[in-house]
Amino acid sequence: MQKRARIAVVGSANVDLTTFTSRFPRTGETILGDRFELGWGGKGANQAVAARLCGADVAMVACVGDDLFGPGTIDNLASHGIDTTHVRRVPGVSSGVAPIFVEPDGGNRIFVVKGANDALTTADIDAAAPMLADADCLILQFEIPLAVVLHTTRFARQRGIRCIVNPAPAQRIDLSTFAGVDYVIPNETEAEAITGLPLQSIDDARACAVHLRAQGLAGVIITLGAQGAMLAGPDLAGPDLTGTGPQLLPGYAVSATDTSGAGDAFVGSFATFLCEGLAARDAVARANLYAALSTMRPGTQKSFVKREQFESEWLSRL
Ligand code: ADP
Repeated sequence: MQKRARIAVVGSANVDLTTFTSRFPRTGETILGDRFELGWGGKGANQAVAARLCGADVAMVACVGDDLFGPGTIDNLASHGIDTTHVRRVPGVSSGVAPIFVEPDGGNRIFVVKGANDALTTADIDAAAPMLADADCLILQFEIPLAVVLHTTRFARQRGIRCIVNPAPAQRIDLSTFAGVDYVIPNETEAEAITGLPLQSIDDARACAVHLRAQGLAGVIITLGAQGAMLAGPDLAGPDLTGTGPQLLPGYAVSATDTSGAGDAFVGSFATFLCEGLAARDAVARANLYAALSTMRPGTQKSFVKREQFESEWLSRL
Protein backbone atom coordinates (compact mmCIF):
# COMPACT_ATOMS: atom_id res chain seq x y z
CA MET A 1 0.00 0.00 0.00
CA GLN A 2 1.32 3.47 -0.82
CA LYS A 3 2.42 5.72 2.02
CA ARG A 4 -0.01 8.46 3.03
CA ALA A 5 1.66 11.86 2.57
CA ARG A 6 1.77 14.36 5.46
CA ILE A 7 2.11 17.88 4.11
CA ALA A 8 2.28 21.27 5.81
CA VAL A 9 1.67 24.43 3.81
CA VAL A 10 3.02 27.70 5.18
CA GLY A 11 1.38 30.36 3.07
CA SER A 12 -1.40 32.67 2.05
CA ALA A 13 -5.16 32.48 2.13
CA ASN A 14 -7.12 35.02 0.09
CA VAL A 15 -10.71 35.57 -0.91
CA ASP A 16 -11.24 36.23 -4.61
CA LEU A 17 -14.06 38.76 -5.11
CA THR A 18 -14.89 38.63 -8.79
CA THR A 19 -17.25 41.09 -10.46
CA PHE A 20 -18.25 40.44 -14.07
CA THR A 21 -19.05 43.75 -15.75
CA SER A 22 -19.75 45.22 -19.19
CA ARG A 23 -17.04 47.81 -18.61
CA PHE A 24 -14.83 49.35 -15.90
CA PRO A 25 -16.24 52.52 -14.19
CA ARG A 26 -14.51 55.89 -14.62
CA THR A 27 -13.39 57.88 -11.55
CA GLY A 28 -16.47 59.15 -9.68
CA GLU A 29 -18.82 56.88 -11.64
CA THR A 30 -20.96 54.07 -10.23
CA ILE A 31 -22.23 51.40 -12.61
CA LEU A 32 -24.13 48.15 -12.17
CA GLY A 33 -22.04 45.02 -12.47
CA ASP A 34 -23.56 41.95 -14.14
CA ARG A 35 -22.61 39.18 -11.73
CA PHE A 36 -20.48 38.52 -8.63
CA GLU A 37 -18.63 35.44 -7.39
CA LEU A 38 -16.77 34.77 -4.16
CA GLY A 39 -14.00 32.18 -4.39
CA TRP A 40 -11.54 30.84 -1.85
CA GLY A 41 -8.01 31.43 -3.04
CA GLY A 42 -4.46 32.42 -2.16
CA LYS A 43 -1.60 30.27 -3.41
CA GLY A 44 -1.03 28.66 0.00
CA ALA A 45 -4.66 27.66 0.50
CA ASN A 46 -4.96 26.48 -3.12
CA GLN A 47 -1.92 24.24 -2.82
CA ALA A 48 -3.17 22.88 0.52
CA VAL A 49 -6.55 22.01 -1.04
CA ALA A 50 -4.89 20.37 -4.08
CA ALA A 51 -2.69 18.21 -1.82
CA ARG A 52 -5.68 17.27 0.33
CA LEU A 53 -7.84 16.33 -2.67
CA CYS A 54 -4.93 14.15 -3.84
CA GLY A 55 -5.20 12.28 -0.54
CA ALA A 56 -2.51 13.84 1.67
CA ASP A 57 -3.01 14.72 5.33
CA VAL A 58 -2.59 18.50 5.21
CA ALA A 59 -2.07 21.19 7.84
CA MET A 60 -1.82 24.88 7.13
CA VAL A 61 0.06 27.70 8.86
CA ALA A 62 -1.51 31.00 7.85
CA CYS A 63 -3.11 34.24 9.06
CA VAL A 64 -6.61 35.52 8.34
CA GLY A 65 -8.24 38.81 9.26
CA ASP A 66 -10.87 39.54 11.91
CA ASP A 67 -13.46 40.35 9.26
CA LEU A 68 -16.25 38.16 7.82
CA PHE A 69 -13.78 36.41 5.53
CA GLY A 70 -11.56 35.10 8.35
CA PRO A 71 -13.94 32.44 9.72
CA GLY A 72 -15.10 31.68 6.15
CA THR A 73 -11.55 30.95 5.07
CA ILE A 74 -10.96 28.67 8.07
CA ASP A 75 -14.30 26.89 7.48
CA ASN A 76 -13.43 26.32 3.84
CA LEU A 77 -10.08 24.73 4.72
CA ALA A 78 -11.68 22.66 7.48
CA SER A 79 -14.45 21.50 5.12
CA HIS A 80 -11.74 19.86 3.02
CA GLY A 81 -10.34 18.16 6.13
CA ILE A 82 -7.30 20.44 6.39
CA ASP A 83 -5.90 20.97 9.91
CA THR A 84 -6.37 24.68 10.73
CA THR A 85 -4.94 24.60 14.28
CA HIS A 86 -2.19 26.97 13.16
CA VAL A 87 -4.36 29.39 11.19
CA ARG A 88 -4.38 32.57 13.30
CA ARG A 89 -6.96 35.37 13.27
CA VAL A 90 -5.22 38.75 13.42
CA PRO A 91 -7.10 41.56 15.21
CA GLY A 92 -7.54 44.86 13.42
CA VAL A 93 -6.41 43.59 10.01
CA SER A 94 -8.42 42.58 6.95
CA SER A 95 -8.17 39.14 5.42
CA GLY A 96 -6.18 38.85 2.21
CA VAL A 97 -8.53 39.75 -0.63
CA ALA A 98 -8.32 39.92 -4.39
CA PRO A 99 -11.00 42.15 -5.95
CA ILE A 100 -11.14 41.03 -9.61
CA PHE A 101 -13.01 42.80 -12.39
CA VAL A 102 -13.72 40.80 -15.54
CA GLU A 103 -14.91 42.48 -18.75
CA PRO A 104 -16.94 40.67 -21.45
CA ASP A 105 -13.86 39.91 -23.60
CA GLY A 106 -12.37 38.02 -20.61
CA GLY A 107 -9.85 40.78 -19.89
CA ASN A 108 -9.38 41.29 -16.13
CA ARG A 109 -8.08 43.85 -13.64
CA ILE A 110 -6.96 42.46 -10.29
CA PHE A 111 -5.92 44.08 -7.02
CA VAL A 112 -4.32 41.88 -4.38
CA VAL A 113 -4.55 43.25 -0.83
CA LYS A 114 -2.25 41.12 1.30
CA GLY A 115 -3.99 41.99 4.59
CA ALA A 116 -3.41 39.35 7.28
CA ASN A 117 -1.05 37.34 5.06
CA ASP A 118 1.54 40.00 5.78
CA ALA A 119 1.08 39.48 9.55
CA LEU A 120 2.48 35.93 9.54
CA THR A 121 5.65 35.95 11.66
CA THR A 122 8.56 33.68 12.51
CA ALA A 123 6.88 33.24 15.92
CA ASP A 124 3.94 31.57 14.12
CA ILE A 125 6.41 29.11 12.59
CA ASP A 126 8.04 28.44 15.95
CA ALA A 127 4.62 27.87 17.52
CA ALA A 128 3.84 25.31 14.81
CA ALA A 129 7.28 23.65 15.03
CA PRO A 130 6.13 20.27 16.47
CA MET A 131 3.53 19.90 13.72
CA LEU A 132 5.97 21.03 10.99
CA ALA A 133 8.66 18.67 12.26
CA ASP A 134 6.21 15.79 11.85
CA ALA A 135 5.47 16.53 8.18
CA ASP A 136 6.99 14.70 5.20
CA CYS A 137 7.17 17.94 3.30
CA LEU A 138 6.73 21.70 3.78
CA ILE A 139 5.42 23.87 0.92
CA LEU A 140 5.93 27.64 0.75
CA GLN A 141 5.20 30.47 -1.67
CA PHE A 142 5.98 34.21 -1.77
CA GLU A 143 2.58 35.64 -0.72
CA ILE A 144 3.79 35.86 2.91
CA PRO A 145 6.78 37.85 4.25
CA LEU A 146 10.03 36.57 2.73
CA ALA A 147 11.64 36.53 6.22
CA VAL A 148 9.07 33.90 7.25
CA VAL A 149 9.79 31.82 4.14
CA LEU A 150 13.53 31.90 4.88
CA HIS A 151 13.01 31.09 8.57
CA THR A 152 10.89 28.07 7.60
CA THR A 153 13.32 26.78 4.96
CA ARG A 154 16.17 27.04 7.52
CA PHE A 155 14.03 25.12 10.04
CA ALA A 156 13.37 22.44 7.40
CA ARG A 157 17.07 22.14 6.57
CA GLN A 158 18.06 21.84 10.26
CA ARG A 159 15.45 19.14 10.86
CA GLY A 160 16.04 17.33 7.55
CA ILE A 161 12.44 17.90 6.42
CA ARG A 162 11.79 17.93 2.68
CA CYS A 163 10.91 21.43 1.50
CA ILE A 164 9.36 22.84 -1.69
CA VAL A 165 9.34 26.56 -2.56
CA ASN A 166 7.05 27.96 -5.24
CA PRO A 167 8.59 31.44 -5.79
CA ALA A 168 5.30 33.09 -6.74
CA PRO A 169 4.44 35.87 -7.34
CA ALA A 170 7.69 36.57 -9.15
CA GLN A 171 10.35 38.52 -7.35
CA ARG A 172 14.13 38.71 -7.50
CA ILE A 173 15.73 36.72 -4.70
CA ASP A 174 19.17 35.77 -3.51
CA LEU A 175 19.25 32.20 -4.78
CA SER A 176 21.93 31.11 -2.35
CA THR A 177 19.38 31.33 0.47
CA PHE A 178 17.44 28.50 -1.16
CA ALA A 179 20.38 26.15 -1.53
CA GLY A 180 18.95 23.74 1.05
CA VAL A 181 15.48 23.59 -0.50
CA ASP A 182 14.69 20.28 -2.21
CA TYR A 183 12.58 21.66 -5.06
CA VAL A 184 12.09 25.22 -6.27
CA ILE A 185 9.11 25.34 -8.66
CA PRO A 186 8.74 28.56 -10.69
CA ASN A 187 6.58 29.09 -13.78
CA GLU A 188 8.09 30.76 -16.86
CA THR A 189 7.69 34.36 -15.61
CA GLU A 190 9.04 33.50 -12.18
CA ALA A 191 12.01 31.62 -13.67
CA GLU A 192 12.85 34.71 -15.75
CA ALA A 193 12.60 36.90 -12.65
CA ILE A 194 14.84 34.75 -10.47
CA THR A 195 17.46 33.98 -13.13
CA GLY A 196 17.38 37.24 -15.12
CA LEU A 197 17.48 35.00 -18.23
CA PRO A 198 14.89 35.09 -21.03
CA LEU A 199 12.52 32.13 -21.24
CA GLN A 200 10.84 31.88 -24.64
CA SER A 201 11.51 28.28 -25.63
CA ILE A 202 12.11 24.78 -24.32
CA ASP A 203 15.86 25.32 -24.83
CA ASP A 204 15.64 28.51 -22.74
CA ALA A 205 13.84 26.54 -20.01
CA ARG A 206 16.59 23.95 -20.06
CA ALA A 207 19.24 26.70 -19.80
CA CYS A 208 17.34 28.34 -16.89
CA ALA A 209 17.14 25.02 -15.06
CA VAL A 210 20.88 24.38 -15.54
CA HIS A 211 21.60 27.93 -14.34
CA LEU A 212 19.50 27.46 -11.21
CA ARG A 213 21.18 24.13 -10.43
CA ALA A 214 24.59 25.74 -10.89
CA GLN A 215 23.57 28.37 -8.31
CA GLY A 216 23.26 25.58 -5.77
CA LEU A 217 19.55 24.70 -5.93
CA ALA A 218 19.05 20.99 -5.35
CA GLY A 219 15.98 20.39 -7.48
CA VAL A 220 14.30 22.68 -9.99
CA ILE A 221 11.00 22.30 -11.82
CA ILE A 222 9.99 25.00 -14.28
CA THR A 223 6.33 24.71 -15.22
CA LEU A 224 5.70 25.50 -18.88
CA GLY A 225 1.91 25.77 -19.25
CA ALA A 226 0.50 23.37 -21.88
CA GLN A 227 4.04 22.20 -22.68
CA GLY A 228 4.43 20.54 -19.29
CA ALA A 229 7.40 20.98 -16.97
CA MET A 230 11.22 20.95 -17.06
CA LEU A 231 12.74 18.93 -14.23
CA ALA A 232 16.34 19.17 -13.10
CA GLY A 233 17.50 17.39 -9.98
CA PRO A 234 20.34 15.60 -8.36
CA ASP A 235 19.22 12.29 -9.84
CA LEU A 236 19.14 13.73 -13.38
CA ALA A 237 22.00 16.18 -13.92
CA GLY A 238 25.44 15.07 -15.06
CA PRO A 239 28.40 15.58 -12.72
CA ASP A 240 29.21 19.01 -14.23
CA LEU A 241 25.52 20.03 -13.88
CA THR A 242 25.49 21.09 -17.53
CA GLY A 243 25.01 17.80 -19.34
CA THR A 244 21.77 16.39 -20.57
CA GLY A 245 20.37 16.65 -17.03
CA PRO A 246 17.15 18.63 -17.31
CA GLN A 247 14.26 16.60 -18.64
CA LEU A 248 11.06 17.86 -20.23
CA LEU A 249 8.03 16.00 -18.95
CA PRO A 250 5.41 16.85 -21.58
CA GLY A 251 1.99 18.29 -20.74
CA TYR A 252 -1.30 16.51 -21.44
CA ALA A 253 -3.64 17.55 -24.23
CA VAL A 254 -6.90 18.79 -22.72
CA SER A 255 -9.48 21.36 -23.80
CA ALA A 256 -8.39 24.09 -21.40
CA THR A 257 -10.95 26.75 -20.53
CA ASP A 258 -9.42 28.48 -17.47
CA THR A 259 -5.79 27.98 -16.48
CA SER A 260 -5.98 29.98 -13.23
CA GLY A 261 -4.73 27.88 -10.34
CA ALA A 262 -2.96 25.37 -12.63
CA GLY A 263 0.39 26.13 -10.99
CA ASP A 264 -1.12 25.57 -7.54
CA ALA A 265 -2.68 22.28 -8.65
CA PHE A 266 0.75 21.25 -9.95
CA VAL A 267 2.63 22.10 -6.73
CA GLY A 268 0.10 20.55 -4.32
CA SER A 269 -0.22 17.34 -6.32
CA PHE A 270 3.53 17.03 -7.01
CA ALA A 271 4.27 17.24 -3.27
CA THR A 272 1.71 14.53 -2.55
CA PHE A 273 2.97 12.13 -5.21
CA LEU A 274 6.59 12.71 -4.14
CA CYS A 275 5.80 12.07 -0.47
CA GLU A 276 3.95 8.89 -1.37
CA GLY A 277 7.32 7.62 -2.55
CA LEU A 278 7.34 8.23 -6.31
CA ALA A 279 10.54 9.28 -8.07
CA ALA A 280 10.57 12.98 -8.97
CA ARG A 281 10.01 12.40 -12.70
CA ASP A 282 7.01 10.16 -12.05
CA ALA A 283 5.60 12.72 -9.59
CA VAL A 284 6.05 15.50 -12.19
CA ALA A 285 4.37 13.42 -14.89
CA ARG A 286 1.34 12.89 -12.66
CA ALA A 287 1.29 16.53 -11.50
CA ASN A 288 1.23 17.56 -15.18
CA LEU A 289 -1.99 15.59 -15.62
CA TYR A 290 -3.52 16.72 -12.31
CA ALA A 291 -2.85 20.38 -13.26
CA ALA A 292 -4.07 19.86 -16.84
CA LEU A 293 -7.40 18.50 -15.53
CA SER A 294 -7.81 21.68 -13.44
CA THR A 295 -7.69 23.82 -16.60
CA MET A 296 -10.84 22.17 -17.95
CA ARG A 297 -13.07 23.82 -15.32
CA PRO A 298 -13.42 27.46 -14.24
CA GLY A 299 -12.01 28.80 -10.97
CA THR A 300 -9.04 27.76 -8.87
CA GLN A 301 -9.83 25.49 -5.90
CA LYS A 302 -13.15 24.45 -7.37
CA SER A 303 -11.41 23.30 -10.55
CA PHE A 304 -9.26 20.74 -8.70
CA VAL A 305 -10.34 17.11 -9.08
CA LYS A 306 -10.44 14.39 -6.44
CA ARG A 307 -7.88 11.57 -6.39
CA GLU A 308 -10.31 8.96 -7.76
CA GLN A 309 -11.06 11.09 -10.81
CA PHE A 310 -7.37 11.73 -11.34
CA GLU A 311 -6.58 8.01 -11.12
CA SER A 312 -9.18 7.06 -13.71
CA GLU A 313 -7.86 9.77 -16.10
CA TRP A 314 -4.30 8.59 -15.46
CA LEU A 315 -5.18 4.98 -16.26
CA SER A 316 -7.06 6.01 -19.40
CA ARG A 317 -3.96 7.82 -20.68
CA LEU A 318 -1.37 5.11 -20.06
P1 ADP B 1 0.96 29.00 -13.58
O1 ADP B 1 -0.46 28.56 -13.43
O2 ADP B 1 1.67 29.23 -12.31
O3 ADP B 1 1.16 30.12 -14.57
P2 ADP B 1 1.70 27.10 -15.66
O4 ADP B 1 0.92 27.91 -16.63
O5 ADP B 1 3.11 26.76 -16.04
O6 ADP B 1 1.75 27.74 -14.21
O7 ADP B 1 0.89 25.75 -15.41
C1 ADP B 1 1.26 24.82 -14.41
C2 ADP B 1 1.08 23.41 -14.95
O8 ADP B 1 -0.29 23.23 -15.32
C3 ADP B 1 1.88 23.09 -16.21
O9 ADP B 1 3.19 22.65 -15.88
C4 ADP B 1 1.03 21.99 -16.83
O10 ADP B 1 1.29 20.75 -16.17
C5 ADP B 1 -0.40 22.42 -16.48
N1 ADP B 1 -1.03 23.25 -17.52
C6 ADP B 1 -1.16 24.60 -17.55
N2 ADP B 1 -1.81 25.02 -18.66
C7 ADP B 1 -2.12 23.89 -19.35
C8 ADP B 1 -2.80 23.62 -20.59
N3 ADP B 1 -3.30 24.61 -21.35
N4 ADP B 1 -2.92 22.34 -21.01
C9 ADP B 1 -2.42 21.31 -20.26
N5 ADP B 1 -1.76 21.50 -19.09
C10 ADP B 1 -1.62 22.76 -18.63
